[in-house]
Amino acid sequence: MSLIPFNKPYLTGKELHNVAAAHGHGQLAGDGQFTRSCNRWLEQRTGTRKALLTHSCTAALEMAAILADLQPGDEVIMPSYTFVSTANAFALRGAVPVFVDIRPDTLNLDERKIEAAITPRTRAITPVHYAGVGCDMDAIMGIAERHGLLVIEDAAQGVLARYRDRPLGAIGHLGAYSFHETKNIISGEGGALLINDPALADRAEIIREKGTNRSQFFRGQVDKYTWVDIGSSYLPGEIIAAFLWAQMEEADAITAGRLAIWQRYHEAFESLERAGRVRRPVVPDDCGHNAHLYYLLLRDLDDRTAFINQMNQAGINCVFHYVPLHSSPRGRAAGRVKGSLPVTTDLADRLVRLPLWLGLEAEQERVIMTVTALLER
Ligand SMILES: *Cc1c(COP(=O)(O)O)cnc(C)c1O
Repeated sequence: MSLIPFNKPYLTGKELHNVAAAHGHGQLAGDGQFTRSCNRWLEQRTGTRKALLTHSCTAALEMAAILADLQPGDEVIMPSYTFVSTANAFALRGAVPVFVDIRPDTLNLDERKIEAAITPRTRAITPVHYAGVGCDMDAIMGIAERHGLLVIEDAAQGVLARYRDRPLGAIGHLGAYSFHETKNIISGEGGALLINDPALADRAEIIREKGTNRSQFFRGQVDKYTWVDIGSSYLPGEIIAAFLWAQMEEADAITAGRLAIWQRYHEAFESLERAGRVRRPVVPDDCGHNAHLYYLLLRDLDDRTAFINQMNQAGINCVFHYVPLHSSPRGRAAGRVKGSLPVTTDLADRLVRLPLWLGLEAEQERVIMTVTALLER
């Protein structure tokens, strides 16, 4: 019996052709033809003012933290149920992650709990669109406006997903995407920063180019190319952009294929949910998700541990997700918790993710049969 892996990177078949073309162009550093195509695609698909490829979503979040001009002790509100980079990008600037609980339905930052966490030091809110399902961005943008805060969307999982017909990542002041091989559209490692607030666009370019005004120089806007701000090297080389461009050209088909797999799981597990055995993902009506991942909520930690072990024994690799950051060593030392986080603590113990990748179709029935047989007992 063949092993069904949790993830398998999907290749369109055009990646190596593009990589060879990039090599042929004779420019392998960043911001060549393929990078420009990728940036333009992101701008056209999201309506953002400016999109800049980065070498990861982590890098895009770090750029956002520099753009936010955070001072040591400034606070950033975010969920604890997220990937490390959401908090680490701000901790690098000496800022304090303030962890707020998530909603029990979408597992996204609970907008009703944000205002109680705001203090005079709060500078930004970082919503994370878990599983490519949008946070309640209207509520979050309203809170940010009332309190003069920046909104930085961690849309790592949100490429081509929408909230009320607006693309995730293009709603806040800044948005960060990931093209890591575990995401929907991939380049191995890769990411992008969406600069939705035009006031931040020029500085974003400078931060990405080691703190220099190189981009303005090449556009003829300044006559000297020099060091003008802090920054780092956040741009990917052309090989990465060439690879990514092949994926972007097929992004709609990739998303449609993933949605079909997601939907098949969702229908297959409806009766388990009706029997009270599992809880399936909840997608609010105003969210168009992108099938980034499929999860089930089991009864408790023991139930999940047993389930993952039994699935592995059956040759199907399933995994849990985040260890909540407020309970991690660095999160405890560098972050603050607003209230207790009962939903985060509970759901993080019970969530299991099932394999979801293009090509799984042929074996998906085996996954469904195995899950059903295990949980119907
Ligand atoms: C994947 C992910 C990241 C990190 O993305 P990289 O491109 O690997 O840096 C950050 N936040 C969330 C929510 C993610 O899922």
